[in-house]
Amino acid sequence: APPATKSLGELDGGARPHVMFIPSAGMGHLLPFFRVIAALAAHDVVDISVVTVLPTVSAAEADHFASLFAALPRVSRVDFHLLPFDASSEFPGHDPFLLRWEALRRSAHLFRPLIAGAAGPRVSAVVTDVTLTSHVIPIAKELGVQCHVLFVSCATMLSLAAYTPVHLDKKNKGEHGPGVGVGVGVGDVDIPGVRRIPQSYLPQPLLDLNKLFTKQFIDNGREIINADGFLVNTFDALEPVALAALRDGKVVAGFPPVYAIGPLRSKEEEATTGSPPVAWLDEQPARSVVYVAFGNRNAVSLEQIREIAAGLEASGCRFLWVLKTTTVDRDDTAELTDDVLGEGFLERVQGRGLVTKAWVDQEAVLKHASVGLFLSHSGWNSVTEAAAAGVPLLAWPRGGDHRVNATVVVSGGVGVWMEQWSWDGEDWLVTGEEIGKKVKEVMSDAAVRARATRTGEEAAKAVAEGGTSYRSMQKFISSLKAHC
Ligand code: UDP
Ligand code: UDP
Repeated sequence: APPATKSLGELDGGARPHVMFIPSAGMGHLLPFFRVIAALAAHDVVDISVVTVLPTVSAAEADHFASLFAALPRVSRVDFHLLPFDASSEFPGHDPFLLRWEALRRSAHLFRPLIAGAAGPRVSAVVTDVTLTSHVIPIAKELGVQCHVLFVSCATMLSLAAYTPVHLDKKNKGEHGPGVGVGVGVGDVDIPGVRRIPQSYLPQPLLDLNKLFTKQFIDNGREIINADGFLVNTFDALEPVALAALRDGKVVAGFPPVYAIGPLRSKEEEATTGSPPVAWLDEQPARSVVYVAFGNRNAVSLEQIREIAAGLEASGCRFLWVLKTTTVDRDDTAELTDDVLGEGFLERVQGRGLVTKAWVDQEAVLKHASVGLFLSHSGWNSVTEAAAAGVPLLAWPRGGDHRVNATVVVSGGVGVWMEQWSWDGEDWLVTGEEIGKKVKEVMSDAAVRARATRTGEEAAKAVAEGGTSYRSMQKFISSLKAHC
């Protein structure tokens, strides 16, 4: 017989944990935190504090922090002040979000008094971001507080993060004696029980062991094993192999509990009308619109913008295109004119295409009945939102974890991956002709659509009462209650 399931409400009673969330930066990292916080707050079984660093890197982050605290007045905001860090002279030209992670890491010893001295009942558990693990876990241990990590990418990526230090040590032992040596390429990473990740799929900074990202990634990867648990925004039916390998200790022996609680959502109801793109979507036929967006921190070059525009035009499809021309939204002053999109483009596609630089509620857009395809960089939140909506995703991965995510897009039935499409390298462009052809083809591919629909059904089952993600969330809450 299936195990009896208690509703989350029934977990009430007894000791009440106090959980302090310590997120990092970038909407891709913050939104999953906000979604877990909202889910926990809705069930009212724990006290919640959220460490908040102001000013945020982007305007979108500031807006979302403000909405979180306005919507959940019982959640405490704990302000955190970073130590001075002259990032631009130490790491010129680096990604501002990566630099914020580094600034947080360098100020991390200040989390100790924050955790120990938080208002209200004693903090019994910390939930932090993977980018901060190597600094936060030791502090939590010293204070006798549980430390969980909310992992904002896929379980396959978690297995890579945990296994990469082991892989490098093995490689170094064979070739250069122990320790992480200089000049040792990472090479393909064959994650035990999961899959072989070719070097070209890895976050590309990992090819250089001296890169800031790589140092953080390896430091954090070594500490992963000491976490009390991992909350992962995935579900069992999407990544059965990686989840089993992590849980069985095949990736790294004695791996902490992995709670697959996804797909995380902001809201349960259907998309509401009102916001401009949704109002426009309301007027379009079912499954007729291609939604195009590449995350919150990926600037697209002018040349590639022109090709995407030409491709969307050539596809003959309706489209909603969210365009970012800078890494940080506050810097984005470019107007969407002919200079950016190409002569006469907006005029020619009037009525059937909408281009915007504004923040759109992507979750609502993907749930809208008129959306038939998502052309995406396969950032993990985007993948899970597409999976939840049952909308096929056409993956055009950019960097970071995107190629690893794209392997899951394919294996999990979320969509298809254009492996030969890149964003890297001088003069590299995917032409409008290729984009138009592929968009048209995938839009009318019944098999792709059927797989995505099935994945959407699996996602709904996972989070419904008694589903795998629902039960994982219960287990997580039980663990919080057992340790407070
Ligand atoms: N997002 C959104 N509206 C926007 C841009 C982004 O709602 O205009 C959300 C998107 O739904 C996703 C997150 O921001 O939840 C971006 O995360 P993802 O992992 O997809 O990509 P990243 O931005 O981290 O590269
Ligand atoms: N990551 C990690 N350890 C780190 C830094 C990053 O495991 O110290 C993971 C992180 O979860 C993310 C991936 O590596 O999914 C790529 O990082 P980044 O945030 O730069 O990519 P993006 O947000 O654009 O997907």
